[in-house]
Amino acid sequence: MAVKEKSPPSVGAEERGTSSDHADRKTLTQRLDKYASRKRKGCQIGAALCDVILVPKLGNKVLACGRYLAFRKFHETGQADLLSGNFCNQHLLCVACAAARATRLWSKWQPIIQAFPENDLYMLNLTWPPPVAKLASTAGPCDELKANIAVGIAGWGKLWGNRRKHRKGPLAGVLGAIVAMEVTRNPAGWHPHFHCIVMLPRGQRVEVVDLRGHWTKQTGGRQIRLDRIHSDKDLREVFKYSVKPEDLMENGKVDPMAVQDRYHVYQALKGKRLIRGYGTFHGVKDIVDLNAEAELSDSETGEYIDLFYRWSGSYYERVPGEGLEIKNGRVKRGKYVL
Ligand SMILES: [Zn+2]
Repeated sequence: MAVKEKSPPSVGAEERGTSSDHADRKTLTQRLDKYASRKRKGCQIGAALCDVILVPKLGNKVLACGRYLAFRKFHETGQADLLSGNFCNQHLLCVACAAARATRLWSKWQPIIQAFPENDLYMLNLTWPPPVAKLASTAGPCDELKANIAVGIAGWGKLWGNRRKHRKGPLAGVLGAIVAMEVTRNPAGWHPHFHCIVMLPRGQRVEVVDLRGHWTKQTGGRQIRLDRIHSDKDLREVFKYSVKPEDLMENGKVDPMAVQDRYHVYQALKGKRLIRGYGTFHGVKDIVDLNAEAELSDSETGEYIDLFYRWSGSYYERVPGEGLEIKNGRVKRGKYVL
């Protein structure tokens, strides 16, 4: 028999606000709906990790992710921003963490990139074929992907090494680059590739034919795409995700087989730096701890209220009362950990 989900109760006074800030109410309610949708998927992913892939420690982390969320709502602007939560930090498996990571990465990198308005930005996409060398018969499903990823990393290392050490090669004129690895699924298997932001002095260009020649020599890859970046939307693509959250879904539900498949990608990528900065962008840390308190924009000042929400099992419900705090992923009321 189908289980009927409880409907969320109507929003409380603080969330509802006055009739003049209708947009505000909509913003917070819509945000909560999005987080709830991700949380439902997270529960299914966590269950598959526990029951199908038999990794209960990891599965329980994903299951517990986003049990509590805190938003800071500014009275004057009506803006409500996510302040903190108890995230599992497993963005390769957890859809809530993938979305939260994308937001954090963008707010971290956007001011760094935009500090150089005098330069030109290009989007460079680099792909390569899987290596032909046979792996040992004992190799696991993620070893093939690891070997494939290693080809791309070595290829980029060579290209950038020429620019850094000798000021030579097709990237010689590049001032800085941000390289993000993405792994997509296609019928032939896993397909790792790079999305790069490349910064050049105004008017300078990268010779695509030369770049393709070097890339093919290093990796066997022939597909290179270089486009001028015109908007923040183009830039954000680079920080969106490392593996597509939608790949886990089948007919609107999480597919346990897709989670199993994704688990191999998780094994191949975990602990790797998936976004790296070079040249001007060197040294910017890419590891994002989602449980560190968000740095809210300077433009949001004035009186605010912090609103806490708890996962009820089917929606986020307001946690009333004072004294609640979420710090470094731990939810506390006074000295008690919830
Ligand atoms: Zn998570």
